[in-house]
Amino acid sequence: MSIESPWVLLGLLLLAGAVGFYASRRPRPSALGAEHVRTNYLAGVNFLVNEQPDRALEAFLRASELDGDTVETHFALGSLYRRRGEVDRAIRIHQNIIRRGALEPQQREQAKYALAQDYLRAGLLDRAELLLEELATAGSHRMAAMRNLIRIYEAERDWQRAIALHEELSTVGRPRQESAVAHYWCELAESARAEGRIDEAAELLRKSRSAQRRFPRGALVRADIAIEQGDTDLATSLLRGVVEQDAGLIVEALPRLVRLARRKEEAGDALLAEVARSKPEGWRELAFAAIVGDALEFPSLEALVRRLFETDETLAGFIRALGQDPATVDSRAVRELGSVLRRLAAATPRYRCAECGFSSTGHFWQCPGCKTWDSQRPLTRFDLVAGLEANGAAPA
Ligand SMILES: [Zn+2]
Repeated sequence: MSIESPWVLLGLLLLAGAVGFYASRRPRPSALGAEHVRTNYLAGVNFLVNEQPDRALEAFLRASELDGDTVETHFALGSLYRRRGEVDRAIRIHQNIIRRGALEPQQREQAKYALAQDYLRAGLLDRAELLLEELATAGSHRMAAMRNLIRIYEAERDWQRAIALHEELSTVGRPRQESAVAHYWCELAESARAEGRIDEAAELLRKSRSAQRRFPRGALVRADIAIEQGDTDLATSLLRGVVEQDAGLIVEALPRLVRLARRKEEAGDALLAEVARSKPEGWRELAFAAIVGDALEFPSLEALVRRLFETDETLAGFIRALGQDPATVDSRAVRELGSVLRRLAAATPRYRCAECGFSSTGHFWQCPGCKTWDSQRPLTRFDLVAGLEANGAAPA
């Protein structure tokens, strides 16, 4: 049987703890009781080293006497169980520590914090929340408990409580995370808008702006409201602001600009041309967004797509393989190619997190993988091979 080194190390650690525990102990009133503890402790170490974690756990839990030395070794054992993904065992170890009568207050807090980590790992958010709320009021784990609680409130989409906790953190000297708070207000505003409470949504967006000025997500939601209310000028200026501020959000802003342009009929193309002129370095994103957003009827966008066809080697090769010349394809061919590319793009990831690499076909303001806000970037290149495979066709 192979022995995993962390277990051997921990076994030795526990053994050393146990030896120190018995060597330093005053004569106990019940020699029989001490012998019982000792037997269970050594049996636990033995089971651990022999890779029998269930029996090891039972033996340690039966060795119910804990003093300063053995508490530390139980913490080490609990944390090792959690790191190995054996959360049930970690929970039992930490619950066992908390049940002890003679614990230092600091050790009790540490055990509660460790147990909260176990619950988080196990996805038992409500239980973790109860412990963390207690730890977040005072003590040495206060800050860490507050940060964990914020993650829980985010997962529960309890934005109001997340905002309140950020406020509280800033009063105890931790810098305010403006962009997270601005996102919470936007989440609330989007819900209000979806339920038809437009005035409330506008008010929530004002709060988002006061948390963080020039906040693109807030501008996008406000532009949606303005489009619904027929306030074209406000919507246009908000969306142009988003495009200028962050080329990564062109893919989000362009479909809305296209809605406005379609309403303007004849003058629609001039609006889009102006946007393209104001952000020349964003031409590739605009071309990509025009293809995936099916907006190739506008000459200014078609021109950008042609430029993409000519300059992107993969696309140019693809078009040549179809028997066309990328420099001279006519408008009809541009639209047909656009429709093929749109289908391919729909089947492949279009966003990737800059922090953890999580990729998705839809856009998330908060990465589902690492929970970072604003870390998803659009992938503005067409992955032809993956797209063709996903569509069930072998690549040429
Ligand atoms: Zn991520």
